[in-house]
Amino acid sequence: MRLLITGGAGFIGSHYVRSLLTGRYRGYEDARVTVLDKLTYAGTLTNLPLTDPRLTFVRGDICDRGLLMDLLPGHDAVVHFAAESHVDRSIAGSAAFVSTNVTGTHTLLECCVGTGVSRFVHISTDEVYGSAEEGAFSEQSPLEPNSPYAASKAASDLLVRSFHRTHGLWTSVTRCANNYGPHQFPEKVIPLFVTRLLEGRNVPLYGDGLHVREWLHVDDHCRAVQLVLESGRAGVTYNIAGGRELTNRDLTRMVLAELGAGWDRVDRVADRKGHDRRYALDAGRIREEFGFEPRILFERGFAETVQWYRDNRAWWQPLVRRTAGPASAQPGPRLG
Ligand code: NAD
Repeated sequence: MRLLITGGAGFIGSHYVRSLLTGRYRGYEDARVTVLDKLTYAGTLTNLPLTDPRLTFVRGDICDRGLLMDLLPGHDAVVHFAAESHVDRSIAGSAAFVSTNVTGTHTLLECCVGTGVSRFVHISTDEVYGSAEEGAFSEQSPLEPNSPYAASKAASDLLVRSFHRTHGLWTSVTRCANNYGPHQFPEKVIPLFVTRLLEGRNVPLYGDGLHVREWLHVDDHCRAVQLVLESGRAGVTYNIAGGRELTNRDLTRMVLAELGAGWDRVDRVADRKGHDRRYALDAGRIREEFGFEPRILFERGFAETVQWYRDNRAWWQPLVRRTAGPASAQPGPRLG
């Protein structure tokens, strides 16, 4: 079994790769893994066990057709994590989102058909459904994305669907709630708040802080992706959720408490443009088909994550320095 993992140097992709290579997915203990990653600001080789003989790392762009046509033959499956993933950056400028998320996914799909790859799992997001004022979105809910990020992901989901229907490519799409865990780039809200507090700085909270997000540990997300790769049905989309719903204000309170800081460390900032109020998923399909339930209770996973950032300054401080620039050029926190 040989897998090509796009975006495998990022937060979720690298967790999936490390899980595979440490033999955590039964039946895949001997799988060989190729990571294809452009190493944008969000990707880092320090996320990967580069000395593992089963891992091959290729630096490259999913928009590069020639590279894909050379690389894909011999791979049994593609798990496609690569994306521009930060909502605030998509508000500041969306061209890279259209390029990677739409054109990149399209190029990958064409090359999978061209080289006979037999399985393609596309990693998407709950944000494609838009804001859920009440209730929860099922896989049949309409796609009503509100940010350029979410729109580019929705477009890629539809391209994946079309390549299944038109070309018979075996595809599955997963749409997950907000992830948290170790190795998340410190621009996303939990690592941003934790690392800022650890550096003695304040944290920015958007608007009234009552936006609601559901949080799932990255390990539970990756386990669900693996179930879909192994046993998912072709042409079918799976919502992945079952974590903890929290307002951003409550999440901020938890981060402050974990680090022994008070509300004086919170700066209220103007709300994000087009900010979705609430995301909520009905994850009944993946529960009924595979018995999938999250295993990591939020309180435990959250405390372990904060501790990981405490213990791993050597991982995040270079990333913070690398992306530091004039304050006006910095996107705000991603609250999902
Ligand atoms: P991330 O930003 O941490 O990592 C993205 C990776 O993709 C990086 O390593 C980057 O270098 C790489 N990449 C970007 N453009 C590329 C290109 N053109 N060619 C090759 N590689 C490229 O993102 P993440 O949080 O790990 O998210 C992974 C996937 O999961 C994304 O598709 C995202 O939409 C989806 N998702 C994320 C969340 C979340 O909470 N983080 C939730 C649901 C779904």
